[in-house]
Amino acid sequence: MIMSKTAQSVWENCLSFIKDNIQEQAYKTWFEPIKSVELLDSTLHIQVPSKFFYEWLEEHYVKILKVALTKELGKNAKLLYKIKMENTIGSKQPFTEQIPSSQRSPIKYQEVDAPFKNLNPELKNPFIIPGIRNLKIESQLNPNYSFENFLEGDSNRLARSAGMAVANKPGGTSFNPLLIFGGVGLGKTHLAHAIGVEIKEKYPDKTVLYISAEVFTQQYIDSVKKNNRNDFIHFYQLIDVLIIDDVQFLSGKSGTQDVFFHIFNYLHQNGKQVILTSDKAPVDMQDIEQRLLSRFKWGLSAELHQPDYETRISILNNILYRDGVEMPKEIVEYVAQNIKTNVRELEGAIISLIAQSSFNKKEVTLDLAKSIVEKFVKNVKREVSIEYIQKVVSDYFQLDIDTLQSKTRKRHVVQARQLAMFFAKKFTKASLANIGSQIGDRDHATVLHACKTVDNLVTTDKQFKKFVDDIHKKLSM
Ligand code: ADP
Ligand code: MG
Repeated sequence: MIMSKTAQSVWENCLSFIKDNIQEQAYKTWFEPIKSVELLDSTLHIQVPSKFFYEWLEEHYVKILKVALTKELGKNAKLLYKIKMENTIGSKQPFTEQIPSSQRSPIKYQEVDAPFKNLNPELKNPFIIPGIRNLKIESQLNPNYSFENFLEGDSNRLARSAGMAVANKPGGTSFNPLLIFGGVGLGKTHLAHAIGVEIKEKYPDKTVLYISAEVFTQQYIDSVKKNNRNDFIHFYQLIDVLIIDDVQFLSGKSGTQDVFFHIFNYLHQNGKQVILTSDKAPVDMQDIEQRLLSRFKWGLSAELHQPDYETRISILNNILYRDGVEMPKEIVEYVAQNIKTNVRELEGAIISLIAQSSFNKKEVTLDLAKSIVEKFVKNVKREVSIEYIQKVVSDYFQLDIDTLQSKTRKRHVVQARQLAMFFAKKFTKASLANIGSQIGDRDHATVLHACKTVDNLVTTDKQFKKFVDDIHKKLSM
């Protein structure tokens, strides 16, 4: 079997596993440039662009690499990096340095770096473990998501200190449940892990479990299928600190909500700690049963806000410090000034910059910073112009803008034109007359009519509604 495997096929399988489990940007930056070289026994040789690259992989991705390789090549799998040293003076051939991957203790599947978009739930289905007390449960915590790495600022002070309080006395504060809520990329998952990590440190005997609401739901569904719903419930009742991430995912899933309600009550009554995260405040959660919502409000709901400038700067500096990289102050400031709404994007941008400077072995310039920041904020907020709307609509219907603006009465063109007008009204502050004049020189009455027509069609024509939704999505990207 092993005989038939080639370095390339092994590496490709590893890549597809890794791709599923790390963020897309990170994948592109750190994995796409790698080449597989050869496979000798169970050792895969891969070529990486620089020493820095190798260090980065070892620092951040050694675990997932190990998991992927072990899946492919068995438990003797080893990894060897080859690094091209381009600047070796006097030698014609590039000199290649070989470094074996660090041999750390065997990595368990569960330890793969978060934010693992949860792995196959089967594999970590914890309630297979026999139902005895004091069982060892893999906490599924990511040690990198610690309090120490979670920088404090006005935007997160309340949530962070509530988290600390809970970590000091799990189950023993009035913050039970502790609900952390806020927009994407603001640190909910990180903070939730930090609380768990801290509890494990202070109280090694406590059983802590981190799980996303999505995996929780899948496990529940499986348990129903396999007729062991009771085992599922009992398992969760044994936990001292239960952390459920992204509970908004439970919306509309009444079976899972029901079972969670019972688990929650049991844990709460027994002085166990529950920590939840959500992308919405409880009042805004939809399709969550009232009785569950009222439980969510028993403890404390703490919001994570968008970080202010100072906090953004310290987050960036912290990453640079952690990775031992120096970067001009003006660049760091530029990034912090331009990425405001999302810590994940902030991190992504600085990591890309670090990577770029290391590939090209040159100083990071403001121009490079600009182009990278642009990539990251593209999907945040851009002033949408009427011109841009026409371009998006024409692209969508595969027309050119001249046709869109022409006098033709062909139905599909008329519809596209009306949609452009409708979105111009919705997304810009331009007057009807102004919109009309820019879209094929029509008058304000035509624009008004277009908007009404679109409004009507949306409610009566499913296909048309899909056009509107699609284009709306594209324009909001
Ligand atoms: P969410 O779960 O709210 O979408 P995450 O917890 O995944 O967000 O955070 C996104 C990224 O931003 C993570 O890599 C996290 O470590 C980082 N991050 C968020 N807040 C902070 C902070 N205050 N200090 C340091 N890093 C942070
Ligand atoms: Mg999250």
